[in-house]
Amino acid sequence: MGRAMSYWADVHTHSVFSADGHDTMDALAEAAVRAGLSALCVTDHFDTWSSFDTKPHRDAFEAARAAVSGRLTLLRGVELGEGHTLGARSEALLDSGPFDFVLGSCHCIHGKPDFYDMPPGDRDGCLALIAEYLAEVIEMVRWGRFDVLGHLTYPLRYMVGRDGVAVDFSPFYDELRTLFRALAEGGYGLEVNVSGLRRPGGFLMPDLPLLALYRACGGEIVTVGSDAHRAREIGAHIRDGYALLREAGFRRAAVYKNRQPVWHPLP
Ligand SMILES: [Zn+2]
Ligand SMILES: [Zn+2]
Repeated sequence: MGRAMSYWADVHTHSVFSADGHDTMDALAEAAVRAGLSALCVTDHFDTWSSFDTKPHRDAFEAARAAVSGRLTLLRGVELGEGHTLGARSEALLDSGPFDFVLGSCHCIHGKPDFYDMPPGDRDGCLALIAEYLAEVIEMVRWGRFDVLGHLTYPLRYMVGRDGVAVDFSPFYDELRTLFRALAEGGYGLEVNVSGLRRPGGFLMPDLPLLALYRACGGEIVTVGSDAHRAREIGAHIRDGYALLREAGFRRAAVYKNRQPVWHPLP
């Protein structure tokens, strides 16, 4: 019994240590148990706009981990945004670990606001921004002090999901191949972020064609995250993320412990 038990993990979530997080690590961990997850990784924001104090963060994590011991694998991560532009702040954070998992995300083009705060643009303006964004992400990968690239198609959350501009990443397959080969060759992974599915008409980041391109470029490491900012969002639509991996031809997903991928067959 139990050998074939499905292993569901949500490895992108935010607690009150994120400025836009609503619930404690304890509450997130209990929600993960209720949602039937085997593992949960808390990845609070540390980036251009936000940070957290590492000592209280570590203490809260250790207490939450002890409280769910035997019921859930709780992992300590961070969503490091624009790490390549933070200089000594990135280095100090990573040295203050230990972290199980570092998600590398890009929420803004250097010197510009978060895409969340950008005014709506037209199609040409959006395409120009996507080109700049991809160049920024490739620069971040060359810097490299993270494990997995978060929500690759983040700008589309606002351009398409909020502003209704008909734009996607299809004009940028050359840049995407460069990016995916750099990820594969450097031993980095790619996240499937399912947060978009919590909105009407939402989409996965990235979608099937891009995930398939990543695999064709040699990409093997994949993780799944809800990007929950509330306990009630923990594990939401995680199954859709795993289904997308299967559809793209992957057989296993990773959960990071001590900055190393631990493999689990897709449930
Ligand atoms: Zn993010
Ligand atoms: Zn996030």
